[in-house]
Amino acid sequence: MIWNEHIECMSRDELREIQSKRLCETVERVYYNVPFYRKKMQEIGLEPEDIKGIQDLSKLPFTTKQDLRDNYPFNLFAVPMSEVVRVHASSGTTGKPTVVGYTRRDLSSWSEVVARSLHCAGVEKNDRIQIAYGYGLFTGGLGIHYGAEKVGATVIPISGGNTKKQLNLMSDFESTVIACTPSYALYLAEAMEEKGIDPAKLKLKTGIFGAEPWTNNMRKQIEAKLHIKAMDIYGLSEIMGPGVACECSYQNGLHVAEDHFIPETISTDTLKNVDMGMEGELVFTTITKEALPILRYRTRDLTVLNYDKCECGRTMVRMQKCTGRSDDMLIIRGVNVFPSQIESVLLEMRETKPHYLLIVERHNNLDTLEIWVEVDEAFFSDEIRKLENLTKKITHEIQSTLGISVKVKLVEPKTIERSEGKAKRIIDRRKLV
Ligand SMILES: [Zn+2]
Repeated sequence: MIWNEHIECMSRDELREIQSKRLCETVERVYYNVPFYRKKMQEIGLEPEDIKGIQDLSKLPFTTKQDLRDNYPFNLFAVPMSEVVRVHASSGTTGKPTVVGYTRRDLSSWSEVVARSLHCAGVEKNDRIQIAYGYGLFTGGLGIHYGAEKVGATVIPISGGNTKKQLNLMSDFESTVIACTPSYALYLAEAMEEKGIDPAKLKLKTGIFGAEPWTNNMRKQIEAKLHIKAMDIYGLSEIMGPGVACECSYQNGLHVAEDHFIPETISTDTLKNVDMGMEGELVFTTITKEALPILRYRTRDLTVLNYDKCECGRTMVRMQKCTGRSDDMLIIRGVNVFPSQIESVLLEMRETKPHYLLIVERHNNLDTLEIWVEVDEAFFSDEIRKLENLTKKITHEIQSTLGISVKVKLVEPKTIERSEGKAKRIIDRRKLV
């Protein structure tokens, strides 16, 4: 089942030719339409003509999440707003989200890469796909949605949460595919057990799981508990959303849609490309996007690229399942959380010290975040009511910044261990087993 055999199975030479042509067009587009990139290129004495093909990719400057924040909301867009037909956004460290935009053609490319991904993972026209990713500013729900419609599957756009309803519809509508985060899949399995639902009796056969790192052991658990094949889909809004890469039935790496996104792996120390077969930070350059073309975006995800031909027949490079990151970002219930976001909230409060500890756990397959916060000596009081009010205030501030529920625990001054080097701010007790 190959959605676009002509592209997905093309020879490396042919592919490089397409990538080179599109890369040159992209460089020209950003140079003349995005002041940020023009300035960055001028700073290193680079002109669009210097980029003659994919062999010159490493001459281009990197883009980071911070660059997107600094250009909030629309300053990296390469087209007038009248051409932008949709925006999505994800949470950011300063409370301001990272905003991405799409032209009509971008949306069409996105549906195409998701259609390829779904087909690659075994989803086809006769399937009924229950999309339990959140719909809204998050790219998960709507991203999978249009690709699934393009494939011709029956879409059940239930969005995230409401587990009882998820299970009822799954059974009544005879869903064959579930798309959600892997941790939610395990949560669903447990809920079935509690309700005495036998997964083997459902029609479910495939899961499309992404938006958070997960291991092959977790895959085994999900597959055994839900009686399905659990497939990994990869994407990030800065590049497109879900569908940047997806596993095929061999479950041995995710095929990247290389005619839209050129992947590289770099050393986080030297920022140079790592040798073939070595682990490095994944970097993407978009080569077809119109609204938000991005040069060499540092994803912070660590992976290995594998250019060997895959048994499925696809020639598109495979990236190894991502399980680690090169920064301190946490993914909690599919939401990106940076410790610095919490720090900035605490810094704005007079009653607290910016000494804190994040404790992440997984209960019943749902991630929880508990935050220990040190109270300033001057405000520390034995009066329970005062402390309760303070707890409420901090909880509210942090929740509205992160967009997820958290539990705040106030601790006495100087109880959180100080360290001389990099402060240990995170205790992640989730076992990615
Ligand atoms: Zn394959």
